[in-house]
Amino acid sequence: MKKYFLETYGCQMNKAESDSLELILKRRGWESVSSDIQADLIIINTCSVRQTAEDRIWGRIGYFKKLKESHSFKLVIIGCMAQRVKEELYTTCKGTVDLVLGTLEKNNILEYLEGLPEEESSTYTFQEYHSDGKSFKTFVPIMHGCNNFCSYCIVPYVRGREVSRSAEEILHEIEFLEQHNVKEITLLGQNVNSYRGTYQGREISFHELLDLICGRISSIGWVRFLSSHPKDFSSALIDTIAANPQVCRHIHLPVQHGSNRILSLMNRRYTKEHYLDIVAEIKEKIPGVSLTTDILIGFPGETEEDLDATLDLMQKVRFIDAYTYYYNPREGTKACTMADSLPLETKLKRLEKVIALQHRISAEEKENKVGHVQHVLVESVSKKDKTEMLGRTEGDEMVVFPEKCDTIGKFLDVKLLSCNGNTYKGERV
Ligand code: SF4
Repeated sequence: MKKYFLETYGCQMNKAESDSLELILKRRGWESVSSDIQADLIIINTCSVRQTAEDRIWGRIGYFKKLKESHSFKLVIIGCMAQRVKEELYTTCKGTVDLVLGTLEKNNILEYLEGLPEEESSTYTFQEYHSDGKSFKTFVPIMHGCNNFCSYCIVPYVRGREVSRSAEEILHEIEFLEQHNVKEITLLGQNVNSYRGTYQGREISFHELLDLICGRISSIGWVRFLSSHPKDFSSALIDTIAANPQVCRHIHLPVQHGSNRILSLMNRRYTKEHYLDIVAEIKEKIPGVSLTTDILIGFPGETEEDLDATLDLMQKVRFIDAYTYYYNPREGTKACTMADSLPLETKLKRLEKVIALQHRISAEEKENKVGHVQHVLVESVSKKDKTEMLGRTEGDEMVVFPEKCDTIGKFLDVKLLSCNGNTYKGERV
């Protein structure tokens, strides 16, 4: 049997696409190996969201160049970086990289290796399945690409225009996952809220799809979705989440910044006030909801007043958690043409303030949950203590508690006893 080794970098969409690529390879008789030196084929599924992500791949290619001195294998680079710097990869990695496939061609990897002349595809093909149903939780891509062109983001240039998968295809995959006793699904897209797929010949939006899915599932207990964009987060969606208990009470709603001037420069197309209105409606209609977000600090031209506007927004929303990072120019984006005016030191200082505030808010919000009983999906044995299990709450928070490992993949009720950093200690009730 031919052997392959697959490395995946970047977002959940890349992970889901690697999973479906593995299904293709296995269907064609390939075997997955856990070590690169055993492989006949090495595939790197790349990310391009930040320069550091690409630098890491150049490093890996250097390592495989060395490995090729003693081992014979094909090296294939796929994904967002492959889409962005295809020619550069071919010219600078001659003799090391055998094939470079962008975001739309990656599933034809075997055909190209077998000699099919390379050609750029213009359409994205969704796979029938994105997992073999063996895991109790899995991703279900519902759309691909992005039309938003946030000025700092490379995604629309490497993943192309939004394409929504038909609801029939999605429901077909979910039926398969139901038959395989999957417990949690995450609906995936760069901007799931702008889903516009077809169902029985008519166009439906994301909240209608969510309603359809919730009406069809029974063994699947939890439905999550990622990522959202505030400009498309409608009252109809909030009402649909409120009406369907299977939809997890956790919403990741990237705000990026709290200053209207910076939000406009980022081309986010909402204001701080609009964002706060959405949050108020979510909290009113979905009590106990956990909100998380992304915050990007240090954008060109950002002032101390702009930073204060962001800190003010964070205090008003009180996110349970936030992914925070500082701006780095991304070649090929609109923001990259703007003067990157802030010294790194200033960016880091401002980021520190944001992180410190978020840490304080997270600790207070998590402490408020201590003493409450939470529904938990058991995921694995705790790394720290083998007599304990690690699970996740509906709010996507981690909790460890004494339990047996035959509960993996099961829902249990757990009382939260204390919180240490990001992880609760609990006991089964
Ligand atoms: S919504 Fe904006 S940040 Fe998100 S993928 Fe699209 S362009 Fe990038």
